[in-house]
Amino acid sequence: MNIFAGMWSRFSRRPWLVRRAVADAVVLTTILALVFALLDYFGLLENEHGGFHVLAPLISHEKLSQLGSLMLVLSSFGMIFIARRFVDIRNQLRQQNLRDARAKAESRRDPLTGLANRRHFNETLIEEIRAADENNAKFALLLMDLDRFKPINDVFGHEAGDVVLKQVAERISKASTDAVCIARTGGDEFAILVSHKTGHTDFGHIAEKILRHFEPVFEIDDKAVRIGASMGIAFYPSAGDDAEALFRHADVALYNAKRNGRNRYCLYAEEMDSAVRNMSELAPDIKRGLRESEFVPYFQPLVDLRSGRAVGMEVLARWQHPVHGLVGPDRFIPVAEALDMVGEVTFQVMRKACSAAVNWKPPLFLAVNISPGQLRDQWLAERILAVLTETGFAPSRLEVEITENSLVEDIDVARAILYSLKNQGMRIALDDFGTGYSSLIHLRDLPLDKIKIDRSFVTSLKTDIGSAKIVSAILGLVTSLGLPTVAEGIESEDVARILSELGCSYGQGYLYSRPIPLEEVEKRYLNAGEEVAPAEPKTALRA
Ligand code: C2E
Ligand code: CA
Ligand code: CA
Repeated sequence: MNIFAGMWSRFSRRPWLVRRAVADAVVLTTILALVFALLDYFGLLENEHGGFHVLAPLISHEKLSQLGSLMLVLSSFGMIFIARRFVDIRNQLRQQNLRDARAKAESRRDPLTGLANRRHFNETLIEEIRAADENNAKFALLLMDLDRFKPINDVFGHEAGDVVLKQVAERISKASTDAVCIARTGGDEFAILVSHKTGHTDFGHIAEKILRHFEPVFEIDDKAVRIGASMGIAFYPSAGDDAEALFRHADVALYNAKRNGRNRYCLYAEEMDSAVRNMSELAPDIKRGLRESEFVPYFQPLVDLRSGRAVGMEVLARWQHPVHGLVGPDRFIPVAEALDMVGEVTFQVMRKACSAAVNWKPPLFLAVNISPGQLRDQWLAERILAVLTETGFAPSRLEVEITENSLVEDIDVARAILYSLKNQGMRIALDDFGTGYSSLIHLRDLPLDKIKIDRSFVTSLKTDIGSAKIVSAILGLVTSLGLPTVAEGIESEDVARILSELGCSYGQGYLYSRPIPLEEVEKRYLNAGEEVAPAEPKTALRA
């Protein structure tokens, strides 16, 4: 019974098989009918009463004899045909089953790396949750995101990126031999499921092992590149009792690992979730702040190190919050960036700064900060120009500060934007120099007017020999290219002197002034008839 049921289910799933079976049945019936006629003719079907001889009135004995021989031959062919058809159908069934199995496997696999895909991973995760519930066990979900992968695609092309992703998949597989499932869940995102079955209680050591496998360089043709990985780990059942909650919490831990400097792993803890929630709660507040025009510019002077006079002002955003008071950019710029609202914040601040500075005497230049996300906006140059036109501020008095990290996203779009800013008469400064990627390529290929050496090197200039050497090397390199340099974060006279002796052109830092509000700029730097004020004492206003 079971055999018939199985066959029927196989047939009913494939309509072409049913059609074939019907055709074969028709052929078989015809052959049987002919054989029956033949038997009848030879009287084999006659009984003792002379019954069943049905064809005699229609055809002569001789013809019927010839027809009979023909039928015999035909029916033998028919039999062979049926046997072949049977074998044929059986083979086709087998092949179809193989194809089905292969298609099923393909639909669960990431074609590039051969790892599981997201769909398969989700199914396994749900299965694992069920098993863990039955056995009262726990397991871990690791989410992983590559660090410094995007530049590889940008610099070496997507094929090179694919080569690296394959190597990454191999390394993860090697490092996590006892994982239940490893998947590539997105471009450079991976997920690993480590089960209770493996007997691990300390799931962190798997993350450490994976990180160790990322230490050797990756190879693309004859080039060697370094890639890191950040990981977030969520445990079942403590971090969530369904797949969705586990994914969300592992993602929160991953975000935290990235925020803490990347190339590390982070275990999910409830407090992290509230931090991320705070961030999403800030979104409507930022929107309201924009509507109420609460974002204002503060100004920090850029000083000529030789004369000690201010030559320009860097515009730094502050949020005059009705409840929290004055909020610094480190608290809201990253959130605004994540929510794609940083452009609006920057433009609100820029508009206010430009309309205030348009009539400054002396006409100090303004330096404005542009976020990485903004350099993806191909209309950025036009938007900045619109602000300048609206406020009447001359493009030649505007310096646009970009960071190296913003160049790795899409260097071609960024380059086009920078050239159009230059064509409009603005200047471009490379901010936080020394902390980003492939600085030398940028120095050679981009239309830069100024380099700002990152505060981290300047602050430790006196105490750390390494920093001193780096600053000296940067100054040598940049000045040999004919570009002026600005040292950020100067807090003491000694450091200012050393920098000046090393050939640095400009400085910025608490030694001269903290960022100050507009009224303070007007009081200190814009006194009628007076040249720009010299360096401020360290007791300057706090901002
Ligand atoms: P940044 O462009 O590197 O700005 C310099 C930061 O260093 C400022 O922090 C400034 O207050 C601080 N600083 C200056 N001199 C010293 C010093 O001597 N010692 C120390 N310890 N710090 C010093 P701030 O104002 O908190 O700004 C932080 C960052 O926020 C800025 O870094 C910039 O990247 C970003 N930012 C500020 N305003 C805007 C804006 O309007 N748009 C965008 N996209 N980013 C902004
Ligand atoms: Ca800056
Ligand atoms: Ca900076």
